[in-house]
Amino acid sequence: MSNPSLLILAGDGIGPEVMDQVKRVIDWFGEKRDMAFDVSEDLVGGAAYDKHGVPLHDDTMAKAQEVDAVLLGAVGGPAYDDLDFSVKPERGLLRLRKEMDLFANLRPAQCFDALADFSSLKKDIVAGLDIMIVRELTSGVYFGEPRGIHVENNERVGVNTQRYTESEIARAARAAFDLARKRGNKVCSMEKANVMESGILWRDVVNEIHQAEYSDVELSHMYADNGAMQLVRAPKQFDVILTDNLFGDILSDCAAMLTGSLGMLPSASLGAPMANGRPKAMYEPVHGSAPDISGQGKANPIACILSFAMALRYSFDQGAEATRLESAIEKVLADGARTGDLMGPDGGTPMSTTQMGDVILSALDASL
Ligand code: NAD
Repeated sequence: MSNPSLLILAGDGIGPEVMDQVKRVIDWFGEKRDMAFDVSEDLVGGAAYDKHGVPLHDDTMAKAQEVDAVLLGAVGGPAYDDLDFSVKPERGLLRLRKEMDLFANLRPAQCFDALADFSSLKKDIVAGLDIMIVRELTSGVYFGEPRGIHVENNERVGVNTQRYTESEIARAARAAFDLARKRGNKVCSMEKANVMESGILWRDVVNEIHQAEYSDVELSHMYADNGAMQLVRAPKQFDVILTDNLFGDILSDCAAMLTGSLGMLPSASLGAPMANGRPKAMYEPVHGSAPDISGQGKANPIACILSFAMALRYSFDQGAEATRLESAIEKVLADGARTGDLMGPDGGTPMSTTQMGDVILSALDASL
């Protein structure tokens, strides 16, 4: 059997810096755990624009469709701010998501004990937090038609349409239920069925899928506004939160901040299963290209490394190895390893990106 394949698109700014540490981790798994990957690399975002005049070359898109998983760093930066909308770095990312039809966006919000003080909430509310938000990513109000700005009765009117089909809701719901079975077995679905017809349909379809296929999973429903309150009041009540594109955009950013630094947050975007049974998948840190610190060796590589851990778990069915990697990160944080973004007000000397990679690799060695 051939090795599983990975396409690395490191992108711009700190993307290549954090991805260098991920490559070391990938090599470690090849050497020490007999899990070799066929890794190829290509350009995305501003880096692709500089070479090809587009933020994602067609050949790169074709490669992304063929591999078992894509690992992406970050795109964008001030040098590209004035480009035409159609060739902005972010269009490369959106094209990948759209053409791979990555309909389920998974954003874990996990609070490592050693970093509980970083949260804006009280330590006991967030310590040990481990929740997952599943956001529908390819439909809803960001894509619905009609949309636009037109003139009506001598004034401008802005229009967007919240639109969901049954099958779009069903596939997002299945992704959430499947995940819950691998975690705490609970799904809370959030919408606004009290004021939106699309919310009524969302709730109906989630109930139908639950009854027919996932009655072993505990299901609850919550209006999304209450969900936002509950996320900051008592986030540990949740396991998997399932929600649409718009509410998911907001709720997942809110949940992210429960855990402290942007440099710690991974994500996965999954699509339909391919012929080999693996889902189409792209893994990327939540943060951007951080132009303020890029090129200085200051970036925290953990979000990107945790994104690779998600790839191990969700693309390659290597849950135990993903846990090994996450535990190594937990260990180095407990031992006091800190990049600049994780320094408290008392200061101290922050580690460089490479030094953080070094201690994570040592902790992996120690796990054997
Ligand atoms: P950003 O996430 O790049 O940075 C926000 C702040 O967090 C900065 O102060 C940065 O230094 C810090 N930060 C982010 N990641 C860090 C890390 N790993 N280690 C340490 N500190 C980290 O967001 P921004 O400044 O709003 O955007 C910068 C550029 O990135 C823009 O061009 C934006 O469009 C792009 N962007 C890309 C993505 C993506 O590729 N998915 C996401 C968000 C923003």
